[in-house]
Amino acid sequence: MRSFSLVLNTKLMVLICGCEHVVDMGKLASHFSHHPADKRPDTGERFKTLMEELRSLGVREGLPDLAPSVVPYTPIAGLPRYSIYGCSACPFNRIQRHRVARHCEDACEHKPCYVIDCDVQRPQQHQGYIRIIKPPVNPAVAPLVSAMVQFQVDQTRKLRVEQQDQRLVSPLLVRTGWHRHVAGHDPSVLIAASRYPDKDEFPALVKLVIDYFDRATNLISYTDTLVLRMLNTPEPQRTCVVFFSPSLFSRVLTPPI
Ligand SMILES: [Zn+2]
Ligand SMILES: [Zn+2]
Ligand SMILES: [Zn+2]
Repeated sequence: MRSFSLVLNTKLMVLICGCEHVVDMGKLASHFSHHPADKRPDTGERFKTLMEELRSLGVREGLPDLAPSVVPYTPIAGLPRYSIYGCSACPFNRIQRHRVARHCEDACEHKPCYVIDCDVQRPQQHQGYIRIIKPPVNPAVAPLVSAMVQFQVDQTRKLRVEQQDQRLVSPLLVRTGWHRHVAGHDPSVLIAASRYPDKDEFPALVKLVIDYFDRATNLISYTDTLVLRMLNTPEPQRTCVVFFSPSLFSRVLTPPI
């Protein structure tokens, strides 16, 4: 079977082709004919032998029901898995979260619904992704994962409580920690430092700031997807990511000698 790059999933008794799709045994020859010429296995005598072998293994024509559905399937061994987003009320799935969000707002016929994370597989070329049951977390790392999740929940909750406290200046300060950075400095020095500088007071500063922004801009293509997502979130003040480092401002705050 390897010479045909086929795998037999013995649980569902279905064939999985090297092109990563489930193939109906009865349509194997026509499936192969759609492969690019260099990857097309020969369909002569060896193909006949293969079919006999498959029949003797108990493979039958036809496929199990693999239609997209809201209820997740047991994962099919031998097919790649993807993590994407889906609608909670219908089988609508997309790679981009905002497309699912738009579906849930406007198009979904099964409202109320919301965006969910789902693991999916695509068993058939001409059909959509099917949702699969997420693999259970490895018991060895489970305590670590739940501790990390709990930590994030705590942080978010803490931040929300702090944000509701009107005495705090802003969530931005909570994140940047600038208030801690400047604590202990003489307020008059700080006020003087925040004064708009004279035109030629800090000759290097303009270049420094421009260089800093250039560097930050150049880094965008290397920025982690997660960070970009946070920057694009509809609630940036909640997940505000800070590009400015206090070290830049410490240079500004250092009185000129
Ligand atoms: Zn194939
Ligand atoms: Zn929806
Ligand atoms: Zn929907």
